Amino acid sequence: MRWTTHLLFAVFIASFFVEQGLFVMGLVLFGSFLPDIDHPQSKVGAKIKVVGWLSKHRGFWHTPFAMFVVSGVVVVLTNVKMGIGLGVGYASHLVLDTLTIKGVMLFYPFTRKRITGPIETGSISEGLLFVLLFIILLIILWN
Ligand SMILES: [Zn+2]
Repeated sequence: MRWTTHLLFAVFIASFFVEQGLFVMGLVLFGSFLPDIDHPQSKVGAKIKVVGWLSKHRGFWHTPFAMFVVSGVVVVLTNVKMGIGLGVGYASHLVLDTLTIKGVMLFYPFTRKRITGPIETGSISEGLLFVLLFIILLIILWN
């Protein structure tokens, strides 16, 4: 998925964390970009290119296993609330990427089998998903 779709979905998810404060909401948004650290051309990966060189795109960093590791580090360094915020954002990225043709290794390290969906990144179907998410977000914000 494109970063704009990830951002929109993360804003949707973060809207459920209003009572947790702006910092936790920010961590949800940040977490939603983090898995693409393995993509040299992504918003995050372009800043930290070395990760993209060391691991292939949609590899380790696109797994729930990595989500638990990263969130666990945040819990140890800060607190549970921050770790959950980052983990929820991270999970939102994995959910959307699971809907793509390339998919995600959801059960890594037990198996490298990818769970896939019908959407091609950057296609009209992703555009339709974006519009649908946008309408849902508007309805939520309206109420
Ligand atoms: Zn991704």
